[in-house]
Amino acid sequence: MCMSIKSEYQDYLERQEKIKSKSTGKFWINQESRYVKPFQIYGNLYYVGDSWVCVHIVDTGDGLLMFDAGNCGAQAMLIQSIWEMGFNPADVKWIILSHGHADHFGAVNFFKNMFGTKIYMGEPDVKAFHERPELALVQESGNCMDTLFDADVAIKEGDVLTFGNTTIEFLLVPGHTKGCIACFFDVTNGREKKRVGYYGGFGFNTLQTDYLKQIGDTTFEARKEYLNSLEKVRNQKVDLFMGNHTDNVDLLNKRQYMLEHPGENPFLDGEAWKKYLDGKKKQLMEFLL
Ligand SMILES: [Zn+2]
Repeated sequence: MCMSIKSEYQDYLERQEKIKSKSTGKFWINQESRYVKPFQIYGNLYYVGDSWVCVHIVDTGDGLLMFDAGNCGAQAMLIQSIWEMGFNPADVKWIILSHGHADHFGAVNFFKNMFGTKIYMGEPDVKAFHERPELALVQESGNCMDTLFDADVAIKEGDVLTFGNTTIEFLLVPGHTKGCIACFFDVTNGREKKRVGYYGGFGFNTLQTDYLKQIGDTTFEARKEYLNSLEKVRNQKVDLFMGNHTDNVDLLNKRQYMLEHPGENPFLDGEAWKKYLDGKKKQLMEFLL
């Protein structure tokens, strides 16, 4: 039996409802409601993400390095924010992904296809894209034409890679996904340097019993891996904690504080990294009991 125009339209409405009715549905619609005016965090480090998903840019002096690529469906907003920050999106030479989930790689295909941007992702998540693509949660995107991609570089434990004037030390911090990465590097305002620490995924959504059983992790290895990862990087010296979701670093309040207190910078806080990781460890221990 042929689908009529009317029944195809009905089918389309039903697909919309299906996306909206998921617990995460609110994150895939009305992207513009999460717009944040982009701003300079410190020196050559800038914020171009939204109120939920972080996107950071480092001006390396030889091209822009971007951390994460926004939520699926948020490409246009990200491009607008990059322009508004005073940069040209075509100058984004590299994208480093915190991990392989659909709320972080929204604009990857656009940058890859439009500008030839090189994509970096933790090796275990590169592998997962081929072997278990459903773990990327791309099926939750409101646009069923969103697709996975081949990363150009699979990041391994201990890699040290240079992007323009910025050299980054990488560690793998499995837990939230197997391919979550942590990065450590310097940013500068021209007079002094500050060391950035980036942790690629804190969410407990992928540690839930039901989720782990579904993916076949019946002994809940992911929870133990997460704990080991926190302990592995906890004592790194970090002057500036960079999150991949805004609530990791209380980004919106800090931004507001900067606007109201010119000359002060709450992002420079030598304790924030340790405090947040310790807090996560505490929550995780309760979870493990
Ligand atoms: Zn995630």
